[in-house]
Amino acid sequence: MAAPLPPSRPRIPGSGLAKGLAVTLRTMTRKTVTEQYPDVQPDLPPRTRGVIGLFEENCTVCMLCARECPDWCIYIDSHKETIPAAAPGGRERSRNVLDRFAIDFSLCMYCGICIEVCPFDALFWSPEFEYSETDIRDLTHERDKLREWMWTVPAPPALDPGAEEPKELATARKTAEKLAARQQAAPGGPSAPAAGPTARPAPAASAGTESHADEQARAAESPTRPMGDSPQQTDQPGQQTDQPEPGREGRE
Ligand code: SF4
Ligand code: SF4
Repeated sequence: MAAPLPPSRPRIPGSGLAKGLAVTLRTMTRKTVTEQYPDVQPDLPPRTRGVIGLFEENCTVCMLCARECPDWCIYIDSHKETIPAAAPGGRERSRNVLDRFAIDFSLCMYCGICIEVCPFDALFWSPEFEYSETDIRDLTHERDKLREWMWTVPAPPALDPGAEEPKELATARKTAEKLAARQQAAPGGPSAPAAGPTARPAPAASAGTESHADEQARAAESPTRPMGDSPQQTDQPGQQTDQPEPGREGRE
């Protein structure tokens, strides 16, 4: 047999109304947290995971990102290209050329593993999130679209004052200083016609004997990551596709 219910307390008339008004008053005096999106864009933290941008000049088609993606939503196609020997008797070299790079954002779970594992800094998070589609197939972003997202990637935070200079920058700076000293010492000096202020250092006689420091100096000269959002910068990476990327050769 069920236990008898405890006697209910007598209700004061109007107490419910008073409680409701108290809640309303409390809420009215609190600071509002409502975001007026889409009228006002939200102020997102710089590390927001919105969409993934591809800086394809840095991509060596190593396939690490596609292999590590838990959702298998990165599609990469490539072919091999043979680069003839730079000097007589030298050996031919081969490199991978990217044909297709796509990410299916309808499958992506924004874990960031692909960005973490990329050894060549070719993938970046962008805080952009307004890319909803009415057709799910349009959520597969091909390389052109992924490249466009690169211009929305925020610049990296500045180094702390007094922080150690990054190794790559230090090596590139030392190499540039050495080259400048060599040009000064060369007959004709820096005023020689070939060594104008914008002239790049002459390539080594043989790519096979090029030092690692020279490679890094060239890598530092070329933009490895956009630092702003000016669309004019899209021209710079495109100019480099004609020549082998630093760090790409010899890794196959
Ligand atoms: S964020 Fe994660 S799920 Fe999305 S593409 Fe990268 S590895 Fe795959
Ligand atoms: S891991 Fe990086 S370099 Fe390798 S294929 Fe992916 S994006 Fe390209």
